[in-house]
Amino acid sequence: MVQTEMNPSNQFSKNSTLGSGSTFKLVDYNGTCPGLFGLHFDLKGEKVNKLSASVLEELRAVLLGLQTRTDIKALVFISDKEGIFIAGADITAIMTIKEKKEGERLAREGQAILELFETLKFPTIAAIHGASMGGGTEAAMCCKYIIVSDSPGTKIGLPEVNLGILPGFGGTYRMPKRIGLQPAMDFILTGKTMNGDKAVKLGFADAVLPFQNFREKALEFGAKVIRGQFKKAPKKESAMQGLMSFALEKNPVGRTVLFSQARKMILSKTHGHYPAPLKILDVLSASAGKSKKSALLIEQKGFGELVVTDVSKRLIDLFFATEKVKKQTGVEGKKLEPKDQVKQLGVLGAGVMGGGIAQLSAAKLIPVRMKDIDHKGLALGMSSALKIFSGLVKRKSLTKKQMEQRLELISSTTEYTGFHRLDAVIEAVVEIMDVKKKVLAEVEAVSSENLIFATNTSSLSVNELAKGAKHPENVVGMHFFNPVHKMPLIEVIRGEKTNDRAVLAIFDLSKRLGKTPIVVKDGAGFLVNRLLMPYLNEAGYLMAEGAPIEELDKAVLDFGMPMGPATLLDEIGIDTGAKVAIILEKAFGERMAPCPTNDKLVKAKLYGKKTSKGFYLYDSALKKTGLNPEIYTVLGVKPVSPTKDQKQNWIPRMIYTMINEAALCLEEGIVAHPQDVDLGMIMGTGFPPFRGGLLRYADAVGVQNIVKSLEQLSKVVSPRFTPSKAILKMASENRKFYQD
Ligand code: NAD
Repeated sequence: MVQTEMNPSNQFSKNSTLGSGSTFKLVDYNGTCPGLFGLHFDLKGEKVNKLSASVLEELRAVLLGLQTRTDIKALVFISDKEGIFIAGADITAIMTIKEKKEGERLAREGQAILELFETLKFPTIAAIHGASMGGGTEAAMCCKYIIVSDSPGTKIGLPEVNLGILPGFGGTYRMPKRIGLQPAMDFILTGKTMNGDKAVKLGFADAVLPFQNFREKALEFGAKVIRGQFKKAPKKESAMQGLMSFALEKNPVGRTVLFSQARKMILSKTHGHYPAPLKILDVLSASAGKSKKSALLIEQKGFGELVVTDVSKRLIDLFFATEKVKKQTGVEGKKLEPKDQVKQLGVLGAGVMGGGIAQLSAAKLIPVRMKDIDHKGLALGMSSALKIFSGLVKRKSLTKKQMEQRLELISSTTEYTGFHRLDAVIEAVVEIMDVKKKVLAEVEAVSSENLIFATNTSSLSVNELAKGAKHPENVVGMHFFNPVHKMPLIEVIRGEKTNDRAVLAIFDLSKRLGKTPIVVKDGAGFLVNRLLMPYLNEAGYLMAEGAPIEELDKAVLDFGMPMGPATLLDEIGIDTGAKVAIILEKAFGERMAPCPTNDKLVKAKLYGKKTSKGFYLYDSALKKTGLNPEIYTVLGVKPVSPTKDQKQNWIPRMIYTMINEAALCLEEGIVAHPQDVDLGMIMGTGFPPFRGGLLRYADAVGVQNIVKSLEQLSKVVSPRFTPSKAILKMASENRKFYQD
């Protein structure tokens, strides 16, 4: 189970610890300091260390074996994987849990195994370099000391809440103990991570060490512990922090205030759709001030309750879906040749999107050359990149020096100088086909025949754009969403002539830019806008019928969307929405006919946020201040409180039309898999993740039920609800979108 190796040479040779088939290896570093040992974790055949059931069993045996060792004076617990400490528990196992008791048992066993670290007779030191998530962080907290590397890749957190569960291996008990209740709540409720410096500042870790030769430094630290040269520093707290922690954390009345404030905040953010943060609060509040035994029991119960919820299953589905994309290449069965990887990027147009794309590229250390028609345009692009970077520096995600290094990766030109060296160009010039064709021809004239030309168009045809190209096989769509640095989705649009190489390269580039790409066949609206438009149209029709705007927005918020349709239209721009609606009506006919009230709003120049007036009013800081008092007059309607039946129809009217359209998209091969639809809608529009995406939601409602509702709506409201042949076929065959 555990193999002991001697490392007598007083050298830190990495080889001396490798070469066995077992997961944990005990290495004797007697040569460095008598009594110093290392427990090395290296899960064979896996890229990352995970605490699966079998690994935990191995760990139990290892730790039991160590209980009686008298020759060990200090033990350094370290990963042999590059850039990762421990990725957490095995999520596949969590997904299969159906009974609360089963969940409780899993937590109980995990807790008991990690607790064995605490009962060892000698000091233990968790040495974290790289990511330490969930169970990894919980294991580290069972060690007497924690040391961390200063690598940017060192990220420590308890992200369980993002999977709809809670840290079940003692995390809810030990994190507040280590860093205090309030900071612990911040980490456990949000799943956010801390870097090495922050870990020390918060008192989570005892020291931050340079990441170069981290193992050697960790062993030196272990030697210091043995020699009594390292003493745990008492936690530094300012007078104010001390007072706050006394007032809020350390007395029951203060804690009640803290928890009730947190509950309010969670409810206002989640509308009660996510059980995990609320349950975490319950657990933290019930276990505060209790013994370890009671606190761990409370945690087990909380874990058992959450792990069986549908929300947790849907969030785990989503996690697996994004993990799957990480392994995909964009073309089934094909891999990108290293020579085809985009190393030098160009961006055409330094506007809202171009500036954002250049910033993102530089942030990911990909050199980028930005071109615009004049220096004014370029200056705008540079200043928007600078603004985003400065925000990162302010939030301490980057140092000033790192920002400067990244900004140096952005060069600019009003000519095409340097374009012959580029591997790919992303065009983000104005949304006019002739302008896009012109820049494509200009780029082809100055670049290599291998250059990939990616268009960020949101509504124009990639096939049409490629028509005049010298190399149509190199023309592909790369549809970013606004704002570029925040929105996680990229639609990679494959035109009729686009070759595999271009798709593979842009799919790979999207992933390197930190985004989730989905491959979409060229067609009006691609995937996301094609699905979103029927939803927005329907909201328009409902408002034109007199649905009170704020009430409609609230109903959609209650469903779980991040904002209501009227607010979303104000964000997109009502004029922009109206233009896209016309394009989609042209392509798909009556079912996408936009609501005639669009024109009234456009004529009245109520464009939304950009004109400070749309459905709502906005102040000079673009903050929503209330409903636009002119809005109903412009729409020509009187708002009427809906009957219960009418209101019940709002969500089906808006959401089922999207499902109907999604069935068609799948049938037409716009995307290959329901998962692409769900990722697209969650990451492109904020469709509620707890519902697992549009089509997981459709399966939960039942395809047959959706068809029934659509048929009813098509009779009572409008033929635009007529169920498509694709969804009718599914219903008649009693098929779901997902076959699992
Ligand atoms: P924008 O108006 O902010 O920027 C366009 C830029 O292109 C301007 O700086 C302009 O000077 C420059 N430009 C015009 N002709 C040029 C040429 N011949 N060579 C180089 N530069 C030229 O527009 P935007 O909002 O950034 O949109 C750009 C593209 O991205 C459009 O195709 C749009 O449909 C698409 N898009 C926009 C959004 C969005 O929300 N803004 C979202 C997704 C996709």
